[in-house]
Amino acid sequence: MSRTKVMAVLAAVLCLPAATIAWLGLRLIEQDRALAEQRSMERREQAAERAVQTLTAIVNDSALFTNPPGEGALLVHPDGRGLLFRMNPPMIREAPNAPLAAAEALEFRGDLASAAAAYEKLPPAAGVLMRLGRTLGRLGRIDAALAAYGRLSALVNEHAGEWPAPVAAAWSRCLLLQSRPQLRQEAQRFRALLDSGRYPLSEAAYTAFADDAARWIGVPRPAMLERLTRAAQSETAVDQITVLKREGARLAVTREFIEREWLPKAGPGVWLREFGAPKAGAATIRYPAETKLPWTVMAAPSHDAGQGRERLLIVLLGTVGLFTVGGSFFGVRAVRRELALARMQEDFVAAVSHEFRTPLTTIRQIAEVLEDGRLATEERRQSYYHSLGVAADRLQRLVEDLLDFRRVSDYRRAPLDVRPFSVRVVDEFSRVVAENGFRVEVGDVPEAVINADGEAVGRALWNLLDNAVKYSGASREVAVNVRVDGGAVKWDVRDHGIGIAAGDRTRIFDQFYRAESARRAGIRGTGIGLAIVAQIAKAHGGRVDVEPAAGEGSVFTLTIPMEDNNGPHPDRRG
Ligand code: ADP
Repeated sequence: MSRTKVMAVLAAVLCLPAATIAWLGLRLIEQDRALAEQRSMERREQAAERAVQTLTAIVNDSALFTNPPGEGALLVHPDGRGLLFRMNPPMIREAPNAPLAAAEALEFRGDLASAAAAYEKLPPAAGVLMRLGRTLGRLGRIDAALAAYGRLSALVNEHAGEWPAPVAAAWSRCLLLQSRPQLRQEAQRFRALLDSGRYPLSEAAYTAFADDAARWIGVPRPAMLERLTRAAQSETAVDQITVLKREGARLAVTREFIEREWLPKAGPGVWLREFGAPKAGAATIRYPAETKLPWTVMAAPSHDAGQGRERLLIVLLGTVGLFTVGGSFFGVRAVRRELALARMQEDFVAAVSHEFRTPLTTIRQIAEVLEDGRLATEERRQSYYHSLGVAADRLQRLVEDLLDFRRVSDYRRAPLDVRPFSVRVVDEFSRVVAENGFRVEVGDVPEAVINADGEAVGRALWNLLDNAVKYSGASREVAVNVRVDGGAVKWDVRDHGIGIAAGDRTRIFDQFYRAESARRAGIRGTGIGLAIVAQIAKAHGGRVDVEPAAGEGSVFTLTIPMEDNNGPHPDRRG
């Protein structure tokens, strides 16, 4: 199967479950939403039912029309008691009374003493007591005047002039006591009398009296009671006040009262449409026609548990999705790596075959020439023998490399003198490449001893030198510098060749990896040379690195520590 096909199959295999999970998840969320909606509706229905039941019980409570209702409500008895003022109060006119008129004539003439005496002689009806009090007041007999008004206020069913006697008496007492300290107390009593709604007054009379009382006690008129009074007498709902009626009695309640006293009992999320804009979201509605309540009851569930669950589901799905995507990513990456490795291995086999064929061809051709005895001089024969040796060497190195490639740790380590070792390897290498015009320079080599497998480290160094020549481009110069640094011996192999792109610098040490620049330059290779160098360095506790060289080319550095944990320590000499 081709690589593209493998990737396509892989993608399909990975995508299918992911898509299935996503689809299932979405279905689940959808169903969950529908279920939550259903539940929410049921809860709303129940809430509305409960609210209607509670409110009906409250409205029909027998105590409702007997107990004083409290702040924000007004109870009006069938006879109108409770109202601050009436729409149509009884019109009272005093009956003509000749002796009273005679006494009043004395009063108006200014004969107050005679007038008072005349009033006192008359039967003590409301009109008489009223005038008597007034006259006594004008005479400055305050206590006597107050007594007359006291008697007047006891005549609860009579009228003085056009006003109920107790109201007229209380107001007159206040007038009498103006600018005296008792006024405030007297005025408060007057206000209580007005607020009780016991005596029918026209709105105009009530307003005049209430304004006086307000002025005397310094407290404004009872606006709430006036609103309730007005609402209780009108036939349509006004001012967000509800009027309940039972057997002629009326109970007027403000929105504030209902919201404070009744709605909390009806349960959370319940409100009355008459009292304001509906809350956001779906609500269940119960109309007055079905409930017999004076309001449209609305109910919305106070909280929605469904949302929390939906969020959890989304988080779960997200997590599954993340794992799928993550898993796919790593899976695809692993497969791609495997495919790349397979390709590199194929290239490797081709390259190895080629590497073998070149020296083998040389050997075969030289063998033929020698066999035929075509070579006249000993000198030429020697030169052919040398070439034969070089080709055999190359073959041997190739085989060693391939064997080394699979070997891991059976290096035979022994103390190794760095200076003679380095000089020998570089010399041998120089001789091989000299015929192609390459010059390998080596600077001063310090004295040092490492504990190492000389053959393996030699092969590592050789591979670096070999690459320096192989990738040298037009340059014919290779330089080796050996130094001791930080407890390790370091070999720098510097070339001025084609160089290595930054992105390839770590990967060239992987087996079979070959940089793009090498391929483009048409330079053949197996991609295992540097892998072997890295492996040998690692087995000796060291490493191999590459840096771009100043100018052009690269510097490879092989580092072998003088002291490491992987073997016995060599003699300490230099
Ligand atoms: P090979 O040389 O057989 O391809 P190596 O493992 O020796 O394999 O090297 C791996 C790759 O590193 C090479 O293919 C080449 O791209 C790059 N490389 C190694 N040495 C050099 C160098 N001195 N200059 C430029 N590129 C190099």
